[in-house]
Amino acid sequence: MIPYGRQSVSQDDIDAVVDVLKSDYLTQGGMVPAFEQAVCQYTGAAHGVAVNSGTSALHIACLALGLKEHDYLWTTPITFVASANCGLYCGARVDFVDINKDSWNIDTDELEKKLVAAEAEGKLPKILVVVHFAGLPADLKEISRLSRQYGFRVIEDACHALGAIYQEQPVGNSHYSDISVFSFHPVKSITCGEGGMAVTNDDDLANKMRLLASHCITRDAGLMNKEPEGDWYYQQIDLGYNYRLSDIHAALGMSQLNRLDEFIQKREAVASVYDKAFEELPLQLPVRVENTQSACHLYVVVLEDEVRLNRKQVFDELRARGIGINVHYIPVHLQPYYQGYGFKKGDFPVAEAYYGRAISLPCFPMLTDVEQQQVINAVSEVVV
Ligand SMILES: *Cc1c(COP(=O)(O)O)cnc(C)c1O
Repeated sequence: MIPYGRQSVSQDDIDAVVDVLKSDYLTQGGMVPAFEQAVCQYTGAAHGVAVNSGTSALHIACLALGLKEHDYLWTTPITFVASANCGLYCGARVDFVDINKDSWNIDTDELEKKLVAAEAEGKLPKILVVVHFAGLPADLKEISRLSRQYGFRVIEDACHALGAIYQEQPVGNSHYSDISVFSFHPVKSITCGEGGMAVTNDDDLANKMRLLASHCITRDAGLMNKEPEGDWYYQQIDLGYNYRLSDIHAALGMSQLNRLDEFIQKREAVASVYDKAFEELPLQLPVRVENTQSACHLYVVVLEDEVRLNRKQVFDELRARGIGINVHYIPVHLQPYYQGYGFKKGDFPVAEAYYGRAISLPCFPMLTDVEQQQVINAVSEVVV
């Protein structure tokens, strides 16, 4: 079976991890700060806080922005559940904005409509989690304009988008947002095994997130409520978590970062071959946006009306031909847990229509030409 995504681990990556294993520090050594700095250098953000997953990064980002009970967090339904769950972790209420039918990212017209209605009801969101779906940057300029007009904060869920370019600037420079979040799960642009990072240009948010990721324990006398009792002394000044990344994981991420540009180029090449091969088929393909480079995390095709088989039939036919296709995502508001909050079928029609017809094809740096041709042949046979 050709998988839909797969990591690429080199001998250099293995050597980097082995070096840490032979060193004095498996965690809380020098590798984590070095990795944070390297990601900052790549993205152009001022601060990076490395954690043990993208989900943890979303959680501390929400906490640092002060998300609490009675606040609202909004995101889109076509995302991984973690983009919404981070709001629930903070006791806040979660709501969704439908996606755009072409980009599959947040529909900024729908966002504006929903903001107008929310303002009238006094229910404006505190945080919008903007997902760069499949690696394509969302319309950050428009979102940033709306955030200033309506006073909400913006977290970029850039878990698909490390290595993407938005209007000639790297995603993660957080120019249009408060915090950007990355995941280093093996299917993402680069991997640590498990891992994540929150990056920001705001000193105060960075300090808060760093504390939250490590129990809110400090050795900084300036943050204590009295003089330290001695050199051993520390204080817990708020409720935090152990979300730390280990040096073993950071070493893998640091080494992988050296190949990030090469990975993105290969993903882009895979996507371009699909674009050409499927031009004449009844499929909606990922859009291209001027001055913007997708990280090509997923290559999604949406079946058009003319396709004879339905999505389940196409899915089963392709799987039977050894193509490890997948579906991203089941709309979050249709998950049983979210139905418990009163969401129902029909709430976000564009997302639901997309879900009914979407398939993710294998797209990763080490996909060979032969494998890709197998995928193309199988799709061309099935989608008629
Ligand atoms: C992968 C992913 C996450 C969560 O990242 P983990 O590192 O798996 O916790 C969050 N949001 C999106 C959009 C993702 O794809």
